Amino acid sequence: MVVTMDQDYNVISDGAVVIRNDQIVDVGESDQLSSAYQAKKVIDGNGKLVMPGLVNVHTHSPMTIYRGYADDLPLLEWLYEHIFPVEAKFATPDNVRTGTHLAVAEMLLSGTTCFNDTYYFVDQMAEVVDSCGIRAVLSESVVDFPAPNSPNPDVGLSHTLDLIRKWKNHPLIRISASAHTPFTASADSIVRARQMAVDHGLIFNIHLSETRWEVEESIKKHGVSPVKFLDNLGVLDSRTIAAHCVHLDDEDIDIFTKKDVAVGHNPQCNMKLANGVAPIQKFLDRGLRVGIGTDGVASNNDLDMFDEMRSSALAQKLSAGDPSVLKAQSVVEMGTIMGARAIGMGDIIGSIEPGKKADVILLDLGRPHAIPHFNVYSLIAYSLRGSDVETVIVNGQMLVDQRKLLTVDLETVYQKVKRLSKKLKAFAGMPKVMGRSFLA
Ligand SMILES: [Zn+2]
Repeated sequence: MVVTMDQDYNVISDGAVVIRNDQIVDVGESDQLSSAYQAKKVIDGNGKLVMPGLVNVHTHSPMTIYRGYADDLPLLEWLYEHIFPVEAKFATPDNVRTGTHLAVAEMLLSGTTCFNDTYYFVDQMAEVVDSCGIRAVLSESVVDFPAPNSPNPDVGLSHTLDLIRKWKNHPLIRISASAHTPFTASADSIVRARQMAVDHGLIFNIHLSETRWEVEESIKKHGVSPVKFLDNLGVLDSRTIAAHCVHLDDEDIDIFTKKDVAVGHNPQCNMKLANGVAPIQKFLDRGLRVGIGTDGVASNNDLDMFDEMRSSALAQKLSAGDPSVLKAQSVVEMGTIMGARAIGMGDIIGSIEPGKKADVILLDLGRPHAIPHFNVYSLIAYSLRGSDVETVIVNGQMLVDQRKLLTVDLETVYQKVKRLSKKLKAFAGMPKVMGRSFLA
């Protein structure tokens, strides 16, 4: 069964997809296509569901090494007293490489074929992405305190420029520009990062209105909400993808609509840190592009986008007290084509259509939790799991075959993570001196 996610939502019950090099060249009935094409390789899709690879629009992949490192804490305590201190010591080129490798393995095995990421040591991340063959949009997270690889935002921004030059024209990697948040990056840094995005035709990432605290601080400091603060800086437009957007009022949503800002929705992270439920149905009703992201593993604690799609729908229904909001089809759209549009890639990925890049996944429909099914979008949103993914193709290359990773040496990655986690455990037990004063 081929779920195309094209604009007519075509689903072909006995379908086939024809791939030549890195592109999808035809989609249709299996009978017709098998007589029209002579294929070098045929993947048997009997009893399988074929759909576009999932697009994770907001994550920090190297943070897989901090899976379960600091749980059950509010955001500010979690961030300033645990994550920033551990990153100050452990975000090294080698560890970033290890974390990215583990993340890419996890993403591929759960059907994610493209991810949008902001972190540090992005060149190392890009090398891993290149060697594994997954698709990614990568950016250096610009902050105004000393980051692991840049003492100040000037250095962070110069890293972005280097990345743009080095990875230009790579078939799988796009570089973007990022400012961390309106409270960890200064107005000047935000404006400069966004200008870099404009100058080089990139998307621009920022975390925005994630907590009530952030909104209250912004009003105290600037007299306006974080959204209005950014709008006054002139940095909001269709190249912007704002992550979280939990606490937006109607005026903020009006600004987003007028400026065509995209939203990166991270439901599990928002729930885990008890930040709230973002008004996703409202965003969709206003025609905003909303994609789904896992955020980093340290606040999730996994990268399974099927799980994330399900959480998106359930959290909206519960908070609205209305089971009819955020229907299954909308959630699948957010996990695929709308996510692609949110990161400026809707023209090349996110659906199975001739002319698009061949980012395709196959899932097994033969397991108890997939039987029976009456509506394919309900099946994807509410029943299927990342572990049902059997085959993953990115840019025409098979990267997962029968749940075996073809481009990642998992054993080596596991050994490295194991060694590292011992050091992390020792560090977690040590008293921290930085605390919240880390910012100053
Ligand atoms: Zn994030």
